Amino acid sequence: MSEQIRVRFAPSPTGPFHIGGARSALFNWLLAKKYTDGKFVLRIEDTDRVRSTKESEENIKAALKWLGLDWNEGIDVGGEYGPYRQTERLDIYKKFTDKLLAEGKAYYCYCTEEEIEAERQALRAQNKMPLYGGHCRNLTPEQIAKYEAEGRKPVIRFRTPCDQSVNFDDMVRGKMSFDSNGIGDFVIVKADGIPVYNYAVVIDDALMHITHVIRAEEHLSNTPRQVVLYEALGFPVPKFGHISLILGKDHTKMSKRHGATSVEQYKNLGYLPEAIVNFLALLGWAPQSEQEIFSIDELIKEFSMDHVAKNPAVFDIDKLNWINAQYMKKIPASQITQMAIPHLIEKGYISDIPDEQEMARLNRFTEVIRDHLSFAAQYVDFADLYYKDDFTVEDDECKAVLEEETATEVITMFKNKLAELTEFTAENIQPIFKQIMKDFKANKGIKLGGKSVYMPIRIALTGQMHGPDLAGLVEVLGYERAAKRIERTLA
Ligand code: GLU
Repeated sequence: MSEQIRVRFAPSPTGPFHIGGARSALFNWLLAKKYTDGKFVLRIEDTDRVRSTKESEENIKAALKWLGLDWNEGIDVGGEYGPYRQTERLDIYKKFTDKLLAEGKAYYCYCTEEEIEAERQALRAQNKMPLYGGHCRNLTPEQIAKYEAEGRKPVIRFRTPCDQSVNFDDMVRGKMSFDSNGIGDFVIVKADGIPVYNYAVVIDDALMHITHVIRAEEHLSNTPRQVVLYEALGFPVPKFGHISLILGKDHTKMSKRHGATSVEQYKNLGYLPEAIVNFLALLGWAPQSEQEIFSIDELIKEFSMDHVAKNPAVFDIDKLNWINAQYMKKIPASQITQMAIPHLIEKGYISDIPDEQEMARLNRFTEVIRDHLSFAAQYVDFADLYYKDDFTVEDDECKAVLEEETATEVITMFKNKLAELTEFTAENIQPIFKQIMKDFKANKGIKLGGKSVYMPIRIALTGQMHGPDLAGLVEVLGYERAAKRIERTLA
């Protein structure tokens, strides 16, 4: 590609930043990064004044930054084609609207909401498309004067050309063709003077010299309207790429029912941004190899719109967890602890950020359990092991293990051997299990299986049958706490 690639992400700040939005941002960003002088623009589409909030805008920016999707131009950073917030561009839209009106390509429509609704219902009743019938298409000056005198506030409609086929070549979906008669004369400026999305987006993308528009499939039906507007305004039409819906594992549209849907939720759950980016890239894009873990540089190199699938992408949380686990392996334990602390506080394990000494112990505990974690919030599933000294053994299977003939002796031997250690480290604790087996063999001629040693000791120390590395856990507890736990269980 010789032209300069200019792409944009243009969210409406009307709620939490959905992972689908993050995926659109990522695909655009990757395309910009792929080409030496590619540019990624962040524009805020806030013409819905009721639903747009500053909070949501801040949230989107924070999430993009967290994901590492920086923008070359746009809000906060500025650029040649600003402003980058639509409500700051109203005079720009007005200029084009005046031109369309003067050329007869747009017209004032005085129909009331009720009249429009009645017309729609009548059409629906006849099984016809509920398009605007063109009542105000050719009003006389007298009619206009009458409506004005009645105090009606007009909207502005685009005069959509009839009997044309509207075509574009979609990067994902191939050749698309729509009949302009199915579009109808649509509103471009509301009665309060605010342009609608389909109109503002065209002017902005054109003036910002956007070359490729990659966005969610749900906008596909908007694109014919935008194409006719590009043509009426004399702007070159960008390339479009409509990426497929994201479905939950049950193949219904991804929603809250499927779990976390916003980037912020995943951040708070302790997922890593690199993992989210890696996962999002695979939601629709198919790499040419079996590779699943991609660094950001690899993604930039490998990503291509040619291999973005038409069929819906399925959000597989197990896959995300697996990918995140891969990235978790590469970070220091202290980082995992940091991510886990808000969850430990929330669940009441701690009330504040631990002091340095306690933090060091906690980091050691993190090392013991980290292989069992897919994301940091899962830390709390293991926190009892560390924090809960006064557990009771309730599980019947656990009780049965403790009632085995050799159990009490095994546990006691373990405790005594711990007491003899001069250095209380996992390395020194680990051989004790084998020593107990040896001692049993030598002194009593009893050949104990590993299970008869590990199980009772683990249950005595944690109240649970299964868990992370036992020697490591004992080290983290320290002799005093380990011994007390054992005594409690035996009592
Ligand atoms: N503001 C629109 C949205 O958030 C942008 C759609 C587009 O990319 O054109 O859905």
